[in-house]
Amino acid sequence: MEVIVGKNSGFCSGVKNAVKKAEEQVLTNQKIYCLGELVHNNQVIDSLEKKGMITVNNLEQIDNGEKVIFRAHGEPKEIYELAYRKKLEIIDLTCGKVKIIHDKVDKQKENCFIIILGEKKHPEVIGTKSFAGENSYVIENEDDILDAYMKFENTSLSKVYIVGQTTMSSSYFDRLSKEVEKNFIEAECIIDKTICNATELRQEEARKMSKDFHTMVIIGGKNSANTKALAKISEENSKNVYCIETADEIKEENFINIDRVGIIAGASTPEQSIEDVKNKLKNLK
Ligand code: SF4
Repeated sequence: MEVIVGKNSGFCSGVKNAVKKAEEQVLTNQKIYCLGELVHNNQVIDSLEKKGMITVNNLEQIDNGEKVIFRAHGEPKEIYELAYRKKLEIIDLTCGKVKIIHDKVDKQKENCFIIILGEKKHPEVIGTKSFAGENSYVIENEDDILDAYMKFENTSLSKVYIVGQTTMSSSYFDRLSKEVEKNFIEAECIIDKTICNATELRQEEARKMSKDFHTMVIIGGKNSANTKALAKISEENSKNVYCIETADEIKEENFINIDRVGIIAGASTPEQSIEDVKNKLKNLK
């Protein structure tokens, strides 16, 4: 079977940096906590936990003065404040591109109502919203626009600043931001497409590959927003799209009489997982 892996597959720079720095931390043999999953990938987390990293769901689980990793998605402002109060040593691995969005919304909130396009429950979006302040709203889909507009109307602001979750689909950002602009008739809308270029390149490649391959395999964590976006894009063109996290999830019966498969992997997928999937597919009879 011919198996082609998209060249933009695997760790993005933010995840690469977070995993590298976390690896360095576990080597110091000091107690190290990570607030939430470091990356959306169970294999990476298991490996770090075996080396001593402790994943916690909240800061209450950590004693004062200990060391804690803040992951690439970023954390809300209140979490930083709580960490300072607990005198925790913060290893801040927030991706630089996410930090730029925090700074932008923090600055723009003086004069603008802030709209964040993205998943309401995604950690990156929750973090960005906290920096955007009171006069802000997260729009996940068209159904949220009216509520956002009503909130905007209750402010004295006339400008709207629109940003997006870094991993959302580029075409969805364009569609949703235009829809917002159309509905916020009296407002001056500033659209800032904050989608990460690593995400855009990967999505573009998924689009191209899915036009060429009838069968696509998307590798990534089940909770990974960027992996879900890749699957959605591939489904627009490809006949068979299979989403898996590891090679063990490959079902042989799905690949009977298939002679070409395209693979693309999300930003939290390690090189080894991609290799394992590639080799397993190549060796299918
Ligand atoms: S997808 Fe982009 S913004 Fe998100 S962690 Fe990776 S490099 Fe940073």
